[in-house]
Amino acid sequence: MKRRADLLDKLTHLGRPRARRPRPVNLPMEFASTYLFDSLEEFEAARAARFEKGQLNYGRYGTETTYALEEMIADLEGGYGAIAVSSGLTAIALAILPFVATGRHILVADTVYGPTRHFCDAILQRMGVSTTYYPPGIGADIEELARPETCLIFLESPGSNTFELQDASAVARVARSRGIVTVIDNTWATPLNFRPIEHGINIVVHAGTKYLSGHSDVMIGLIVADGQNYDPIRRTSLALGERASPAEVFLTLRGMRTLEVRMERHGATALALAKWLKAQPEVDRVLCPALPQCPGHAIWKRDFDGISGVFSFVLKPCSKDRLAALIDNLDLFGIGLSWGGYESLILPADVTASRTAAPWTTPGRLVRISAGLESPASLIADLQAGFERFRHNS
Ligand SMILES: *Cc1c(COP(=O)(O)O)cnc(C)c1O
Repeated sequence: MKRRADLLDKLTHLGRPRARRPRPVNLPMEFASTYLFDSLEEFEAARAARFEKGQLNYGRYGTETTYALEEMIADLEGGYGAIAVSSGLTAIALAILPFVATGRHILVADTVYGPTRHFCDAILQRMGVSTTYYPPGIGADIEELARPETCLIFLESPGSNTFELQDASAVARVARSRGIVTVIDNTWATPLNFRPIEHGINIVVHAGTKYLSGHSDVMIGLIVADGQNYDPIRRTSLALGERASPAEVFLTLRGMRTLEVRMERHGATALALAKWLKAQPEVDRVLCPALPQCPGHAIWKRDFDGISGVFSFVLKPCSKDRLAALIDNLDLFGIGLSWGGYESLILPADVTASRTAAPWTTPGRLVRISAGLESPASLIADLQAGFERFRHNS
């Protein structure tokens, strides 16, 4: 197994120009619809190989910029190949679509990102593909939910907003024994903190929109697959005409160069904030995989190399006005969707409506934090002032 430290040189050296003399440090941003060939023979050879990774043929298949990022993320995750698409949600849809058909059945973690659930309930259901949601702590017992028509298991670990860890190895073992494909959303961990393919998972998806690009300006998705599953995904993405913009790919490559230093700081700051929040009398629970009371903490210790900057806390039951008193007027925390950028964010999340297999019964309001790169002491002071407002608003 790779260790996190083994990935550092790759973040710096993969996806760089090789052939030119002299050469710039960075690849230029290559925009192309048309590639020109010197002969009909060359053209036909490229055409015949167009579904293979890294083939320059026509802009929709990818440009040199696209292929540099795809090669880098595939290498970091230990996969055969990667495909860059226009958003994280597109990556999720494209990791599922090639493997389902009318009459088939999939298993999806109850704690998945909300729009993943919507894709299953709205689009897949209309195609005649049924979904069963399973509790994230299921492990090897997932065998009991598998049917003869089950073709895919979707995991997300830790889960969105509530951060329950999944035993990916146990689920992958069951899936392999029954010929079921496994897909995991690894956006929270990034390949620096968890490499699911090493644990037997077939396909990894990322919202590169979050930590990989890291600056709250790019929308991009990445799918990394093992050797058996790359080709159907590549063909499906091309059949749908789906591709990432070279500009957003370029910015993601730029973000990847500093991924390790950013993740180190995001994780350390998140842990400091989580510990501070846990000590506040108004806080009922803190949901962060690095804390022993987080469900699946032992799995985090076994499988992961660190945490990212995103975690949640649950307030003891309180009015909406008091919640607003805490969150409004924070100086450093923005109120907004997404996470994984350099700036800190805070946002309440309602998870009760979206859980069916593992209902969320904790009564208080859940608040998600994305710890940015500001000083941890200033972030704590900002939250402290928010809690003062909370205490004085009754
Ligand atoms: C944001 C997010 C996505 C979707 O990514 P987009 O680029 O916004 O489409 C998928 N999974 C997780 C866990 C996310 O947080």
